[in-house]
Amino acid sequence: MRIGRAAGVTDTGLQRLRNEDAFVCEPPLFAVADGMGGARAGEVAARLAAAALEEPGRAARDSDDLVGLIAEANRRIWERSLADPLTAGMGTTMTVALVAPESGKVTIGHVGDSRAYLLRDGAIEQLTTDHSLVAELVQGGMLTPEEAERHPQRSAITRALGTEPDVDVDAFTIEVVPGDLVLLCSDGLSTMVADERVASVVEDAGRDPARAADALVEAANAQGGVDNVTVVLFEIVEGEPEASEPGGRAASTIEVPSVAAADPGRGGAPGTDGHDEETPADPVSTHGAGKGGRLPALLLVLGVLVLGTLVLYWGISR
Ligand code: MG
Repeated sequence: MRIGRAAGVTDTGLQRLRNEDAFVCEPPLFAVADGMGGARAGEVAARLAAAALEEPGRAARDSDDLVGLIAEANRRIWERSLADPLTAGMGTTMTVALVAPESGKVTIGHVGDSRAYLLRDGAIEQLTTDHSLVAELVQGGMLTPEEAERHPQRSAITRALGTEPDVDVDAFTIEVVPGDLVLLCSDGLSTMVADERVASVVEDAGRDPARAADALVEAANAQGGVDNVTVVLFEIVEGEPEASEPGGRAASTIEVPSVAAADPGRGGAPGTDGHDEETPADPVSTHGAGKGGRLPALLLVLGVLVLGTLVLYWGISR
């Protein structure tokens, strides 16, 4: 068997100011990253992670290679955050799929609450376990899965890439058969669109990865698009695997933005731990972006109201 069509798409959504997700769609390696941090630090973290995979990813062969790649991505983000105070505390989720078509195996490496799903015969199965506060509460029997879906802290993650010098990576291998589709996504999809709906959207798109990826982003935005949405989809088909290309990629094509001091982003100001400042004191991190723009906007509205009242009072008093 071999890897068939593949597609990756990322969208800012309808409510965020910036897109802090990143993805890699470089067969046989696929990945999704969802960054967190102040200013543009979440964007930096996600793209550093993606770039760290994209460069040497083609040489990865097994689970150990994949864990090594993710550990290297972790190290790069951690070191960058130490060197640049504007990115202190930044981090990202990372869910990676490495396909070995000759053996019919897909190895998944995973940190955070982005997800990998297997779509087979019209059914959908979540392959990864979220490293999130709500997932732990569900496992402990303190929340039902339905309550978790609506929980205000559902974006709070308990494990991330780049926030510590070392990271614990979930890694496992699944067997695939021709006809299978593997979906990687950020929580901007999974918190907006229920799993069964994801499966039916993919079926309705004729199981065409490019069409299905676009339709899934559309479905998330139709539900409100409160977060960045990223979808990577690939199919396993009959046939001989393509010979791996000799040599590697010269350089990453993923641009990592710099963090400008004047950029009024969310959370993560120097001196803080970089976690979302709108999140109550909590041992976990929240990712996602765009909330920070609201406070200045609110102050502006208040200012205009006060000014308007003063002008009105002045007019009346005359
Ligand atoms: Mg997200």
